[in-house]
Amino acid sequence: MGFNIAIDGPAGAGKSTIAKRIAAKKGFIYVDTGAMYRAMALYLIRENASPEQIDEKCQGADITIAYENGEQVVYLNGENVNPYIRTEEVGRMASVSSPNANVRKKLVELQQRLAADADVVMDGRDIGTCVLPDAQVKVYLTADSHERALRRYKELTAKGESCDLETIEKDIIERDRQDMTRENSPLKQAEDAVFLDSSHMTVEEVADAVIALCQRDKL
Ligand code: C5P
Repeated sequence: MGFNIAIDGPAGAGKSTIAKRIAAKKGFIYVDTGAMYRAMALYLIRENASPEQIDEKCQGADITIAYENGEQVVYLNGENVNPYIRTEEVGRMASVSSPNANVRKKLVELQQRLAADADVVMDGRDIGTCVLPDAQVKVYLTADSHERALRRYKELTAKGESCDLETIEKDIIERDRQDMTRENSPLKQAEDAVFLDSSHMTVEEVADAVIALCQRDKL
């Protein structure tokens, strides 16, 4: 088994930024599980699936992962969908479809396969609690909702997408509520996870704190 780092937390907490930094510093593979749920959501949007049809329609989505130039690329039925999955619409649909047991089963299996023999840093909502319960390092990363909304706002405006800060904060709060209250693998801190609030920390400080946990664990 490789060395596994699990990072969970609410939307916009900086999980992917931190995970990428750690992966680069430690030479680990970064596994972005949100991107897989987003690819599934994109498929369901394209299929015009109603909530009642998710169970059945999700079977038509073949989701695979490749690493190209150090970046995780998500393939949906053979198509690279990285350019289409980062929108708020897809994020909302991901949150609506991710409680579905069939969706989770498919994607959790893929995630566990990726972590089986490799050193990975994986981020998501249920990594420490369900996907990699034996991960050597587990972190629950959060920040206050206004700070998280501000970060997402900056990210979207930098990409030229027009957006509204208040709407983003409302969306984030609603998405967290759905992710935390669902029955199937809700977002929560694993008992053995370290809690980190990044509201007043720089990316470097958070990444260093997680790397320090890895060293502690190796003793
Ligand atoms: O992290 P990201 O915003 O890309 O995740 C999109 C959605 O996918 C989350 O709001 C959540 O509903 C779902 N998700 C999940 N389990 C994971 C990762 C993401 O349910 N491990």
